[in-house]
Amino acid sequence: MADIIQLLPDHVANQIAAGEVVQRPASVVKELLENAIDAGATTIKLIVKDAGKTLIQVIDDGKGMSTTDARLSFERHATSKIRTADDLFQLHTKGFRGEALASIAAIAHVELKTKQDQDDIGNIIIIEGSNIVSQDVVVVPKGTSIAVKNLFFNIPARRNFLKSNTVELRHIIDEFHRVALAHSNISFAMYNNGSETFNLLVSNYRQRIVNIFGNKTNEKLVPVEEDTEVLKISGFVGKPEYAKKTRGEQYFFVNNRFIKSAYLNHAIASAFDGLLKSGTHPSYFLNLTVDPQTIDINIHPTKTEIKFDDEHTLYALLRSAVKHSLGQFNIAPVLDFNRDSNLDTPYNYNKANTNTPTIEVDKSFNPFQEETQSKVKAATYKKESAASWENLYVGLESKGTKTQQDFSEVHFESEESTGSIFDDDKYVDKIQTTYQLHNKYIVSTIKSGMLVIDQHRAHQRILYEDFLKNMTIKEAVSQQLLFPLQLHFSIQDIEIINQLKEDLEHTGFIFSSVNKESVEIIGVPVSVPESEVSIILEQLISDVENEVPDAHFSATDLLAKSMAKSLAIKTGQSLQKDEQEHLVNSLFACKEPNTSPTNRATFITMSVDELDKKFI
Ligand code: ADP
Ligand code: MG
Repeated sequence: MADIIQLLPDHVANQIAAGEVVQRPASVVKELLENAIDAGATTIKLIVKDAGKTLIQVIDDGKGMSTTDARLSFERHATSKIRTADDLFQLHTKGFRGEALASIAAIAHVELKTKQDQDDIGNIIIIEGSNIVSQDVVVVPKGTSIAVKNLFFNIPARRNFLKSNTVELRHIIDEFHRVALAHSNISFAMYNNGSETFNLLVSNYRQRIVNIFGNKTNEKLVPVEEDTEVLKISGFVGKPEYAKKTRGEQYFFVNNRFIKSAYLNHAIASAFDGLLKSGTHPSYFLNLTVDPQTIDINIHPTKTEIKFDDEHTLYALLRSAVKHSLGQFNIAPVLDFNRDSNLDTPYNYNKANTNTPTIEVDKSFNPFQEETQSKVKAATYKKESAASWENLYVGLESKGTKTQQDFSEVHFESEESTGSIFDDDKYVDKIQTTYQLHNKYIVSTIKSGMLVIDQHRAHQRILYEDFLKNMTIKEAVSQQLLFPLQLHFSIQDIEIINQLKEDLEHTGFIFSSVNKESVEIIGVPVSVPESEVSIILEQLISDVENEVPDAHFSATDLLAKSMAKSLAIKTGQSLQKDEQEHLVNSLFACKEPNTSPTNRATFITMSVDELDKKFI
């Protein structure tokens, strides 16, 4: 039989490799930014259009490439960064595989312009799907500019697989943050669709964090410094009271490279032990410096994991350094019996400033507030009496004992509105009696036997349909706040809020202003307690970020789901009899009572027959 094995042509091999290296526009951003840093740039500009789907361009003022190098840079395994296998254990650059440019050029239209300082004239190369279209001389400043257009133009399946612009841009910004945080000595700018998203000047680390995450961040940061033979730690952790519900602001850098490590994350979490509200995560921005010989980063081109020789020691050092900082800044008691007290001398003891006690006046205190607010509420209830029963439930968590009083304020109409549903339904004529099981399920009798409802999921369904309705008919009722609520967000989060603003307004939110880093809210949906507003928005932003939108993606739907999830009564919450009944009645008044907004069963039934069988 004839031989059948052949070597793959380069462009095919490159396309296959590209599948590994370039998963989405953000992967290109990462590779290009890292190349610019390796080239010794001091100013780096990132330009994206349509979340990188149309254009990703990185312009640097680094050392540039010679004519031959410019051409060679697109070959696979062509790198200036390592020469022998031993160099792999002495890495001082981000790149070393020589795969990125070859991969990118295999799946996009690329234009490279580059000039070295000593040359008078630079080079321009245009390459499309691994084919060199042209190579010429060009007048350009020192440095390199690489423009990547029409990513995945020759792999439609990949292109179609890309997520919405919001999600892809979010990934790009994440990569940008990681690189910019690791190099505060380099100035970075980012432009998205022609407008400036970030302009980060050379600064110290604290300023860099603040420039990225907003001015409010400054007061949250607690410095962490530790210098030992095996490990140098420097950076900041967020004060416990600012801990977030999402894991967004957690950054480890090892030798200036962003890494993820569940193990080291645990070290920090344990240093915060007892200081955090449950379900919240501390922020941290920590740079670890170790001997390059003791780590192995050669795992996978896009992986951010890393292998350490001695993880246990790192864990212990990290935990103790963070604990110490929290203690030193009076955030946690320093008393730790396992610790050698000689170590407890604060690092900057001599430099420490004394804090003059200040008197805090609650500027928003208004002795008449309570009365006025309840008037506003009562008025709103009247307008929306049929839908207003949800207020009882959403208010429960924070108000606790106020439940009874709330009941007296509201008059119910749900029997009228839901009675008909049950008449032609197989379940019940009317809910006779309900019983709450383990503060989790509502049990009730129905014609055929018994009904068990999951209270959290059921309430999500009810709220979800209600929000959707309000957003569609655009007639949500707002509850005016007596004092505007000022909330601070990062610049990227504000972007998401801006995108959702219109829908949020249809649910009843009223924004008096949306600035670069804060929003001011003067009205909220009637079903939303003021104290929950910031948590709801935070959850919403995190849901948008984590959403995997498909063809049916709808911002309205996501918003309704997210708010329903935040506001629904939780498992573990005890409900009064009337509340239980309303929950059941309202669930069956829904269009799709059987499932939660995330498609999980809201209730199960068990017939008398089935019960009988169990007693045989
Ligand atoms: P790697 O970074 O792993 O070496 P790349 O494919 O990313 O591989 O780049 C190939 C080579 O092209 C690099 O080793 C470097 O010599 C050169 N190069 C890439 N980008 C730049 C840049 N912005 N400035 C100067 N040289 C660059
Ligand atoms: Mg590279």
